[in-house]
Amino acid sequence: MDLRGQTQIGIAPVTCDDFPAMPAAAEPLMQYLIVVRGGIPGTMYRLAKGCSTLGRALENTCQLSEGTISRRHASIAIDGQGAAWITDLGSSNGTFVEGRRLTPHAPLRVRDGNRIQVGSTTLLKFVTLDSCEEGFQREMYERAVRDQLTGLYNRGYFLNQVGALADRNAPSGLGLAVLLADIDRFKLINDTHGHDAGDRVLRKVAAILRDSTRSEDLVARYGGEEFVLALPIGSAAHALERAERIRASLAASPLAIDGGAIPVTVSLGLAFRPAGAVVELVELIKAADRALYEAKRTGRNRVVCAKASPSRPAAKTESVDGFFPVLAG
Ligand code: GH3
Ligand code: MG
Ligand code: MG
Repeated sequence: MDLRGQTQIGIAPVTCDDFPAMPAAAEPLMQYLIVVRGGIPGTMYRLAKGCSTLGRALENTCQLSEGTISRRHASIAIDGQGAAWITDLGSSNGTFVEGRRLTPHAPLRVRDGNRIQVGSTTLLKFVTLDSCEEGFQREMYERAVRDQLTGLYNRGYFLNQVGALADRNAPSGLGLAVLLADIDRFKLINDTHGHDAGDRVLRKVAAILRDSTRSEDLVARYGGEEFVLALPIGSAAHALERAERIRASLAASPLAIDGGAIPVTVSLGLAFRPAGAVVELVELIKAADRALYEAKRTGRNRVVCAKASPSRPAAKTESVDGFFPVLAG
């Protein structure tokens, strides 16, 4: 039995009089919608002072990706007294507050803690938070979307966000490159230098990947010693250049340890989807994975690019029919 633990959970006879009076809240309260189900639970949408909108289209204050949500689904207005009013904007599948479907275009008062359903699975909670509660909520969210060891986003966050990233950049003519990066012979590093040194290598690779990317890119730890990057970019050739620079800077950055250095190299698989091409993201990731396998098979410390058929830019990635290897420099 852990006596300290027991002490901590013991219930002392404390009365309210034992606590100093709390000062009255001086700070303004902010209103949020928090995702309870669908997308990434814990995602916070801060509601604007005037009117905020919910829907699938990018221009909404709360952009929600579920397919059964209308492009402009509902709005929430905060009035002069701070009361919130929700209006269904004539959505196809309706807006529900505490299980009751709203009459389209008829505002309904929404109260703290109310659950709002849009689409068939997305459930949001309307809450009013002070800065302390907001900090707690943010911390919970960060823990849900970040990998604890490296601080990078996790796989779940990546998969949830990559579609919206592609959609945001397509109007500017940018396609999407997916890069899968896997540390070479990492098991050997663990076996030779210990698990802690392995963890340091993971953190170092993560830091270099973060430094090699722009704010518009998405970088995540995909699992184990594998990382994934999504780059909004104009062409496969540019993506290949970026991938090759990343490979080279990793290969040039061994991990310093007592009395030496651990060389670290990474193999990368790249797949590119031009703007407007009809390729499912899941297929793009699979193509990058096949290219990564090819990079491993042909010697490691190299980039291999999945080759899309140039005659059919809108074809499915199943048409990937070969690889362009870029040998280590
Ligand atoms: P390859 O070049 O073919 O990728 O070989 P590899 O040794 O990198 O691949 P393998 O899949 O054989 O080994 C991956 C190792 O990564 C095994 C696993 O114990 C280790 N690993 C996974 N996650 C962590 C982690 O968080 N920390 C440490 N130190 N090791 C990890
Ligand atoms: Mg590996
Ligand atoms: Mg691996």
